[in-house]
Amino acid sequence: MNNEYTKSLYKLQPTWKWKFDGDKCVLSSNFFGKEVSLSGPAASDVASLLEILKDGAGSASFASIALRVTGLSEDAFNSLLKYLVDEGIVVLASNDQWEAIGDGQFDRQIRFFNSFHRGDHDGTYFNERLQSKRIAIVGMGGYGNWLALLCSRLGVREIVGIDFDTVELSNLGRQILFDKSCVGQPKVLAAQRALANHHNFHNFNPVNSKITSAKDLYPLLTDVDLVFNPFGFYQADVARKGVPGFVVEAAFTLGIPSLTIGASMVGPLTSPGKSPCYFCCLENPEILSYVTSTSNDTGPVKSRQFAPIISTVCSYAVWEASLFLSQASPPQTLAGIVIFDWLSSSFAKLNPIEMSAKCSLCTSVTKSHTVC
Ligand SMILES: [Zn+2]
Repeated sequence: MNNEYTKSLYKLQPTWKWKFDGDKCVLSSNFFGKEVSLSGPAASDVASLLEILKDGAGSASFASIALRVTGLSEDAFNSLLKYLVDEGIVVLASNDQWEAIGDGQFDRQIRFFNSFHRGDHDGTYFNERLQSKRIAIVGMGGYGNWLALLCSRLGVREIVGIDFDTVELSNLGRQILFDKSCVGQPKVLAAQRALANHHNFHNFNPVNSKITSAKDLYPLLTDVDLVFNPFGFYQADVARKGVPGFVVEAAFTLGIPSLTIGASMVGPLTSPGKSPCYFCCLENPEILSYVTSTSNDTGPVKSRQFAPIISTVCSYAVWEASLFLSQASPPQTLAGIVIFDWLSSSFAKLNPIEMSAKCSLCTSVTKSHTVC
């Protein structure tokens, strides 16, 4: 018997399902967009093996149990297992990785990331990638509060929170980190206190300062992996003269990815020179009509001063950021914008939005790359 089975733990990759189709066993994964049909061994034998692998198997007796349960010959078993591993349908983990799954602080989060297990990259790997990152949030108001809270709970080790404002009574309905005792205090310091006890390794860096240019942000974004820009969309000339544009410009100039959030929209997640930026998206007719609208429409897209809307939009933004920072899966907002419509309980994707040939930011990177 091949003693490799004692060295590694074999597990059905969690996104794969199987069903019978006549005498075939059909395996499919929506996540990987793949489907394979096995017609060699009896479909029921394949299904029996997958049933064992669903919860993971790797003891010294794995092969002998599998042979007994499935009725496969040793050659057929070895061949089938090799095929399943080669196709990524079955993944391998070390005993150490397996034992790390217990009741630790981030156990459930690691189990979630195990859904993306491929090759050597398991839930522990993706979780560590996410938690090792440094993020920045410009504006610690309603959106900034929720973004910081969620990133902190995910265990992101360093969060830079930037704001110059103080907490007001009217903030408390939606700015989740603040309570009545915080009124009158700088928002970044109140946020720091609220987040202080989440994790012993957590580090929230408060920056109590007003941003008046892109350059103001340069020293604050050192070694940052992602900047949240929670100011939403404005007409290009207005955005360029204010904080939304300063964040876009600073992140772009420093080569740092940034994620725009605002009203009921999330996106784009801009990877400078690789995916569309804020100003590219302003050329999209739907975004343009939104920012140039002169009506007093406070309908589902524009509504924002309401905690359930802010918290949901921020949850989706942090979902996208988590996929991006962990590299578990490509986020949808790398290719455009997601818009939530609360009254119809639906959402729309403005996707894909292309990088614009007219965008001065994106073309500057393209040109410099061409020169290099
Ligand atoms: Zn652009």
